[in-house]
Amino acid sequence: MSGYENSGRQQLEKDLQSGKLPHAVVLESQKDLTMKETVNMICQWAVCRGENRPCHKCSACVKVENNNHPDIYTAKLSGKLEVVNVEEVRTICADAYIRPNEADRKIYILPNADKMQIQAQNALLKVIEEPPQHILFIFCCGSAKKLLATILSRVAVYSLDYTYDDDRSVQQAYETALYIAEHLTDTKGYPLLCALGKIDSRVTAKEIIENLMEIIGNAMRYRVTGKAENPVERSLGEYMDMMALSQIAETLHTASDKLDSNINMNLFGAWLCAELRRRKQKT
Ligand SMILES: [Zn+2]
Repeated sequence: MSGYENSGRQQLEKDLQSGKLPHAVVLESQKDLTMKETVNMICQWAVCRGENRPCHKCSACVKVENNNHPDIYTAKLSGKLEVVNVEEVRTICADAYIRPNEADRKIYILPNADKMQIQAQNALLKVIEEPPQHILFIFCCGSAKKLLATILSRVAVYSLDYTYDDDRSVQQAYETALYIAEHLTDTKGYPLLCALGKIDSRVTAKEIIENLMEIIGNAMRYRVTGKAENPVERSLGEYMDMMALSQIAETLHTASDKLDSNINMNLFGAWLCAELRRRKQKT
């Protein structure tokens, strides 16, 4: 594997483009945001009425965005462990044989699929072995290894996270993201520039940006719920208003696009620093 490429994401994009997505897929990612965006993309692709699927514009795509498409069902989670239990699986299996309302496919999203009890996974087997034609199951999990082999042998697994040599670099990317987030509220630009200037690889940059998106998202949530995961997210939420936070989120999305389009890494750090400092000015 070279650069920041990720074979799981590439394979998924290829399969979507060629229209060859199987009736059941497993998405593997440790990141809520990555998972959410990928599930959304697949759902839009599956129900889109436009020409270039997903078009993001047709009424079906808009319904996915608004979480109100009648042919998409997210399994209910129960208990402290937030798992899909066997009763819920049975409900889904019975429903799976009823034709879709308006799309060509009916989609069932199974969050925390790797936490499902064996009994619940077994209950799913039949519908996965002999699927109705119009069905699409999306298993969301942190680690596909925890799914039964009998399920894994009948689905396509896409690993969405970027892979590293070791866990240390994952931790480092998170720590760098936290450091950058901490200095977003700093009046001196120097620490921010230093931290961003040190990012020399696309893999690391991509990972740091994804972590930052998560942190900004949590800071936004803090403004609404008053609950934060850590002091950095709390102080961001206190210091910045919703507008400033969403502008930073927007900048991070642009940054992610720039990384995809092969921006020169020397320019990247300086560009991002300038953008973030411009965004953070209190309005
Ligand atoms: Zn569409």
